[in-house]
Amino acid sequence: MKENTTDNIKVLVRVRPFDHRENNSNNQTTKCVFADEISNVIELKGKTNNAQGTFKFDFVRNEQSSQRAIFSTIGESVVEKFLEGFHGCVIAYGQTGAGKTYTMQGFGDAIENEGEDDAENNKSNDVGLIPRALRRIFEFTKNTASDDEDVTHEVTCAYLEIYNEQLTDLLSSGDGNGDCIAMDGMMVEDSGNNTGSIPSFGSFSGGELAIREDPKKGTFVENLTKVKVNSAEETYEAFLRGSARRRVGETEMNRNSSRSHSVFSVTLTSTTRGRTTKEKKRTLHLVDLAGSERQKATEATGARLKEASAINKSLSALGNVIKSLVDVANGRDRHVAFRDSKLTWLLKDALGGNAKCAVIACVSPALINADETASTLKFANRAKLV
Ligand code: ADP
Ligand code: MG
Repeated sequence: MKENTTDNIKVLVRVRPFDHRENNSNNQTTKCVFADEISNVIELKGKTNNAQGTFKFDFVRNEQSSQRAIFSTIGESVVEKFLEGFHGCVIAYGQTGAGKTYTMQGFGDAIENEGEDDAENNKSNDVGLIPRALRRIFEFTKNTASDDEDVTHEVTCAYLEIYNEQLTDLLSSGDGNGDCIAMDGMMVEDSGNNTGSIPSFGSFSGGELAIREDPKKGTFVENLTKVKVNSAEETYEAFLRGSARRRVGETEMNRNSSRSHSVFSVTLTSTTRGRTTKEKKRTLHLVDLAGSERQKATEATGARLKEASAINKSLSALGNVIKSLVDVANGRDRHVAFRDSKLTWLLKDALGGNAKCAVIACVSPALINADETASTLKFANRAKLV
């Protein structure tokens, strides 16, 4: 069944609260973003013309919105579609410090279930979208694996960083590429993107990785490590392990600002054995993008400036691809330039076709960030149907 692509891309704008640091300095808590959760309209009241306006999205969530609400509003439907058998992606976009990592991961390393009567500030309330998605995936695999019908599920995960248009394998064990390993370090049979190449013994960073396309398998990363996982906890552990290996660059704006894009991918292969054996394989990409801030604000030079143009290349390619997909859904005949950046090429199968994609645009409420908020809202606006 062919579905309307427009329905396949949903955009949510999330406004984060003022943080402790901002609350402790009296000139940083002037609010300029007003989010109406009923009409899904955001009003931006910056100082310049460029930073003012009213924007409508699929969903708008204010400072008070909970992690649980974000998941049920925009994450859950992508995960359910994924469990049905479609590729999917959830992408967090926004300026550094706007709440991308908080939205995707949450605070620290919590994955536990929320209690029924959560006290306020209970740490489990901060559990982000990724652990929530993982719990749902393994609830599904446990409940639908059946001896009678002979349905089995296999879950693997992979974790990539895109930095300066180069891919790094965040889960590689360091002694070679293209491993398919179990969490205990044992090698398991590579049922995935085996291209028949001899594994190369790369550097600790995982060596060169290339994106390939195959008529049957679709787009994949050659030699990427896939870790076979058996529970949400195990998968989240792999995610945290990979996250610790991400690059960070120091800018004047934020000491730990992330200058790279990260893509955590969960692949579910469901096999139904009967008179004929059927295999369903799909991937869910969970993406925490590099900060979208323009480089002027951080006064970058040299290497930092090179990073900035690579970041901008991927982000503007992503904006263009989303815009083209919306145009196609509007009935226009458009070429979708997936291959214009590593990010969009990697996500090709999860952005086009019947895949379901959620974009979460994160913004700060503060007047001092109004210009960046305006540019984030304009980016998110491109994903809208006209
Ligand atoms: P980014 O990943 O976009 O750079 P972070 O997710 O690290 O931004 O968020 C910056 C800070 O604000 C962190 O301390 C984070 O915990 C906090 N924060 C972000 N969004 C929220 C939110 N919705 N509720 C509470 N704290 C938040
Ligand atoms: Mg972050």
